[in-house]
Amino acid sequence: MYDAPNRLRLSTDALTGNWRALAAMSGRAACGAAVKADGYGLGAREVATRLIAAGCRDLFVATWAEAAVVAGLGARVSVLHGVRDDDVSLIGVPDVRPVLNTPAQVARWRAAGEGRACDVMVDTGMNRLGVAPRDVAAGLLDGLTIDTLMSHLACADEPDSAMNARQCAAFAALADRTAAARMSLANSAGIALGADYAFDLTRPGLAVYGGVPVPALATMLRPVVTIEAEVLQRRVVPAGETVGYNATWRAPRDTAVAIVNLGYADGYWRGFSDRGCAFAGDTALPVIGRVSMDLIALDVSKAEVGEGDWVALDPDLPRASAASGMSQYELLTGLGTRFARVWG
Ligand SMILES: *Cc1c(COP(=O)(O)O)cnc(C)c1O
Repeated sequence: MYDAPNRLRLSTDALTGNWRALAAMSGRAACGAAVKADGYGLGAREVATRLIAAGCRDLFVATWAEAAVVAGLGARVSVLHGVRDDDVSLIGVPDVRPVLNTPAQVARWRAAGEGRACDVMVDTGMNRLGVAPRDVAAGLLDGLTIDTLMSHLACADEPDSAMNARQCAAFAALADRTAAARMSLANSAGIALGADYAFDLTRPGLAVYGGVPVPALATMLRPVVTIEAEVLQRRVVPAGETVGYNATWRAPRDTAVAIVNLGYADGYWRGFSDRGCAFAGDTALPVIGRVSMDLIALDVSKAEVGEGDWVALDPDLPRASAASGMSQYELLTGLGTRFARVWG
């Protein structure tokens, strides 16, 4: 069997532990999970199977193609981008329903949905997707079978933003204006805003995968994914010589350097150049020089790391985000396709 020179080590315990913690914080509200973008890069089907086993019954994806990957596993699937003309042929998969976002989507669902349940997104100020509250008041949704009425917070990761309370109030005002069985507002950061934001169903994504959207959640979340990669060569770079493209790093003294099977084509972005960090056991191994497409260099002066050994990249997403300048979301969803994926 072919063994890839790099892998993602994925923790079922961390994934389900994070989800359970978010479910507990959601209080009486049910807790779903966003598994769009291939489960934030970790593998939607593998993630969904584990979350469903832990008790999750509501999954959120962006498109009908993503819905097909997680349909039939034991949870309801909501397609956040709604239903386009090109999606109509896909309607009818049990337990998959669109989140209607526009009057045209509402009309399309009335024509093609055959009375099936749908969800509806209402725009309470983000101005991204969703129907207008005034259209809801004017009867846009009358007669639809709505499972979940939802809205999305623009600034949930800024707990002090006045926009949170404004959106929450605008959403709460719709409570008796539709036939929706449930209401849902909070993403990961929204859960941390408190019980008023939980309504009937929460929709965390990032935090399920170990991302930390607000410091208040830091202590209860654990990293789910660790990148591990194999060393291709160990060399000593003489004092004064440089490493990598554009010679950005110069050896201050003779330095032991490991060249490792990982690069920006794997989603280990160029922002980690001279800033990222790997570990051999507890020993930190700084990334030196530019990240290449398929390779990085590590200063291994403090570790006995040689050809054929494996190192682990720092799995702490807030730290990796600060180092690279990428958001935690980008670090997860950018993970490449060359990794072996090993669930433990
Ligand atoms: C992506 C998404 C979520 C999950 O957001 P996180 O910030 O990852 O928790 C919830 N709701 C909607 C509508 C989304 O698009």
